[in-house]
Amino acid sequence: MHLPAQTDAAADRFPMIRIWEEYPVTAGFTVRQGGFSRGPYAALNLALHVGDDAARVIQNRALFFRMLQQDPKQAIFAEQVHGHRAVVVTSREGGAGVWQTADAIARCDALVCGQTGVLLNILVADCVPILLYDPVHNAVAAVHAGWRGTVSGSVDAAVASMRMAFGTLPHQILAVVGPSIGPCCYAVGSSVAQAVQEQASFLGAALGWRGATQYFDLWMANRLRLNRLGIDRVQVLGQCTFCHSDQYFSYRASNGTCGRMAGFIRMDGRETSG
Ligand SMILES: [Zn+2]
Repeated sequence: MHLPAQTDAAADRFPMIRIWEEYPVTAGFTVRQGGFSRGPYAALNLALHVGDDAARVIQNRALFFRMLQQDPKQAIFAEQVHGHRAVVVTSREGGAGVWQTADAIARCDALVCGQTGVLLNILVADCVPILLYDPVHNAVAAVHAGWRGTVSGSVDAAVASMRMAFGTLPHQILAVVGPSIGPCCYAVGSSVAQAVQEQASFLGAALGWRGATQYFDLWMANRLRLNRLGIDRVQVLGQCTFCHSDQYFSYRASNGTCGRMAGFIRMDGRETSG
């Protein structure tokens, strides 16, 4: 268990989804509630690049770090570009993108790390956040997969980097697919369907029609990708951000103006249980 120490009133109202509490990691997904932002960014917007008042975002991030008992100098954010480049980071990159976007890890959609104390963050609103953990080699990753990253394989890049840097084997990986737009709501146009067929036809099973509308199941597609790599321990939380836009930021449900939530993961020292 990694319950936060008693902090303050704001922190006590800070809900989030925690995973892997039986392991020496701090990992999960933030939700909308608990922060200082207003309007379409209410309340816990963790993104500095979406038009929200930067001072409030800084307050939100400070609260987020307090809740996780995280040293901001060892937190890392990426400049996500809907690509499929993974970057292995260390404490040397600690603080990247924390208080400004300018020094985030450039052009990166998958952060990978093998050190304790370093908090990896991926920001999403409808796009899929995927967390990976190899408890054998002590390596973690946080991955951003919108439809482009799902088609091009941002999660594959993360797994390849874990293998190359730390010797991770696929069957050793635990994976969780976090809150994101579900197959219930993710209608797509012909260009998305065409990209799937041309670039990753094995994901075709994740395309389907309801009436005249085509849907892309990002959860199934990323599960298919992970399974194809040999990763069977995949948990899909099944929380649709669009269906539950009161709980989660949803880019589509808010017509493109909204905050972002974090998928986060940090390895903790094995000696710090309880
Ligand atoms: Zn939905």
